[in-house]
Amino acid sequence: MPKLNENYLNLKENYLFAEVNHRVRDYSAAHPDKKIIRLGIGDVTLPIGSEMIEQLHEGVDAMASSETFKGYGPEQGYEFLRNAIVDYYKRNGVSVAAEEIFVSDGAKSDTGNITDIFDKDNIVLIPDPVYPVYVDTNTMNGRNITFIDANAENNFLPMPDHSKHVDIIYICSPNNPTGAAYNHEQLKEWVDYALENDAIILYDSAYECFITDPSLPRSIFAIEGAKKCAIEFCSLSKTAGFTGTRCGYTVVPKDLKYATSNGGELSINAMWNRRQTTKFNGVSYIVQKGAAAAFSPEGMAQCKENIKYYQENAKIIASTMDKMGIRYFGGVNSPYIWFECPKGMESWEFFDYMLDKIQVVGTPGAGFGNNGKYFFRLTAFGNRENTIEAMKRFETLL
Ligand SMILES: *Cc1c(COP(=O)(O)O)cnc(C)c1O
Repeated sequence: MPKLNENYLNLKENYLFAEVNHRVRDYSAAHPDKKIIRLGIGDVTLPIGSEMIEQLHEGVDAMASSETFKGYGPEQGYEFLRNAIVDYYKRNGVSVAAEEIFVSDGAKSDTGNITDIFDKDNIVLIPDPVYPVYVDTNTMNGRNITFIDANAENNFLPMPDHSKHVDIIYICSPNNPTGAAYNHEQLKEWVDYALENDAIILYDSAYECFITDPSLPRSIFAIEGAKKCAIEFCSLSKTAGFTGTRCGYTVVPKDLKYATSNGGELSINAMWNRRQTTKFNGVSYIVQKGAAAAFSPEGMAQCKENIKYYQENAKIIASTMDKMGIRYFGGVNSPYIWFECPKGMESWEFFDYMLDKIQVVGTPGAGFGNNGKYFFRLTAFGNRENTIEAMKRFETLL
């Protein structure tokens, strides 16, 4: 009989979206005449821009003739895409090398798989509330997790406790679910803390493209010293509408090295390369063709058009919160609006209240951690008409 990885017994039931759907289904069955608007989704809804679509088609056509056919590609990604990403970083004022970029099928896989290269015995610091992948993948590996409180008092941007040592630090900025984004000075403090503690920062930058404030860093590598202590995870999912097409990339600096118990040292870049070449066979040529187009100036301009549409939705939601005097976070450099449930309600209670009174669906903050208990997430990924209608109804809520 196989001995199972019983760390899986320690995973919390992943019931958030299942429970949301369950409650919506029940309500809908009881009130078939009511039109429900969903502002809970964490998925994009606009189609992919034509620059990317054209290149996806070219990728498909290349498979049709023996002259252009592609079989296995490099596990790390094609040079044309890695170079396009280098160039994109350069336009944002950050210098990275092509060998530091690993193309993948998305940031979820990479943020989860990165746990492979770390020993079980590490002090892992994860903010609460948080994107659940960091917690669950470390739990699967049997690692203990230390949580750091993100709350209204720290604007959902927790800062390091210099009196305590940790080894691995997860940061997601702009944040899912809170929409909060660190500024340069705050990130510098995290980088300095990591360098002092010989720790590593695992930086999830999936929402980088939603940053509108030019003073905010678009990459952890905009911070001095970060190449000696950080990995950055990026994704085309929210940037280019690739949630279904699947493409991401992770930047692992060559300077990132840590001591081993035998007195030597290991390069994190070399370890990740070994991990990927062993367990991963690369992203399809077709998808990489489409992805590369997203980094061209024309392709990026199209991506920005879609992002602008979502940002306008975010503004509509945020202005409703302003009007109603509800305290909220995010909504500016992020597609998420994270607000305090009115009347001291808990998030699931507010979920039912909102569904019953105005038939608008969002995501209860409790699903992202203890500190989300009295908070609620709405997303800007819906269509304009529904967002406007939902906010019109919201104004009648209290
Ligand atoms: C959407 C999202 C991602 C992207 O995941 P993909 O696997 O690239 O689709 C990564 N991190 C966070 C926090 C996200 O919300």
